[in-house]
Amino acid sequence: MLEHSQPPHLHGFAMTPDRRSPSRDSSPPAPGEAEARQPDLAGLERPALEALVAGAGLPAYRGRQIFRWVHRRGATDFAAMTDLPLEVRGQLAERFRLETPRVAGREVSSDGTTKFLLALSDGRHIEAVFIPDTPAQTFCVSTQVGCAMRCVFCLTGKMGMVRNLTAGEIAGQVRVLARELGLRDTPFNVVLMGMGEPLHNYDATMSALRILADGHGFALPARRVMLSTVGVLPALERLASESYMPNLAVSLHATTEELRDALVPVNRKYGLADLIEACRRFPVKRRARITFEYVLLAGVNDTAADARRLVRLLSGLRAKVNLIPLNAAAGIPFERPSDARVDAFAHVLAEKGVTVSVRKSRGRDIRAACGQLIVEGAAPSPAQRLARLMQEH
Ligand code: SAH
Repeated sequence: MLEHSQPPHLHGFAMTPDRRSPSRDSSPPAPGEAEARQPDLAGLERPALEALVAGAGLPAYRGRQIFRWVHRRGATDFAAMTDLPLEVRGQLAERFRLETPRVAGREVSSDGTTKFLLALSDGRHIEAVFIPDTPAQTFCVSTQVGCAMRCVFCLTGKMGMVRNLTAGEIAGQVRVLARELGLRDTPFNVVLMGMGEPLHNYDATMSALRILADGHGFALPARRVMLSTVGVLPALERLASESYMPNLAVSLHATTEELRDALVPVNRKYGLADLIEACRRFPVKRRARITFEYVLLAGVNDTAADARRLVRLLSGLRAKVNLIPLNAAAGIPFERPSDARVDAFAHVLAEKGVTVSVRKSRGRDIRAACGQLIVEGAAPSPAQRLARLMQEH
């Protein structure tokens, strides 16, 4: 299906094809930064929040109180913070804001998977998914509106990149889902596998994880978090030196440079061989492993020869492989292999001693499964926005 290394729909991809140049990607800024708006306290890590509140003339412990109200108790406005003097609540509301993604839609799948459509303050939308009993409860959250990676089988990639999420918007998804589902006090996992490429929005993503990890908030342990990436190498190197170290999943999908160039365009910049080398250097915790995700596309990357190459590629790595039979969708020019084919592929890996699992697709009936997150009409045109404004007045 993909004989040419540059299928027509990949023309115009913005990344330079030179995979030897290690220059860092410059990701587009999040909105609101340039505007003189009140700072959003829900998007700050606790030390920064404490400092800001202290700068406003309040004692630093007020910062801690606010952080606990927002992240532990789910407050969405200052008025709800009943152990703060009324006057202080008023002062806070004048100087700061508290942003919470708004639930704009919710779909429940027959298997209990729930997809949330969340509206952000600028009118953009993202999706976040709750996956029950996996065996823990899992929140799958987005890191960007759209995605710049443009993997050819992924619907989010088709949207292109709209903008980065802020740390508050990333952590806010967890806050909102926990509240909506009544799971504030239940242990849950967070997977950064929604819309977007987390390592293409590095600072906000890591900041969101520190907010979620804070003992005054959710106190989410790093072992309950999984970051999934196509392998933006400079950012992967940075991640290797973080003190809060989530589990790592790498979206591999191909075992040769040529095929990966075609399926995962970022491979033209950060190639497969370098990615595997970076994984070998990655400080995997004791007893932990790197998960390699591999979307199976019928007739493209699902032969026994592919499976054997995958075994060789991962040899000596503390790895496990998660096979994801393609979730087909209109506009995705690939097919899902038969179950027999999937089993045969898994069998080759297992025989060679590679730990392998086949991902059960959850929520396919509501398009909440991997690679199916897309928000139609998420970005209203200026004309649409104007029309909407005029209706409101
Ligand atoms: N950008 C990150 C995070 C997204 S995770 C990454 O790529 O890892 C989403 C996972 O679902 C990735 O492994 C992705 O390759 C996979 N995926 C994308 N489209 C899919 C599809 N149509 N069917 C099955 N899996 C898909």
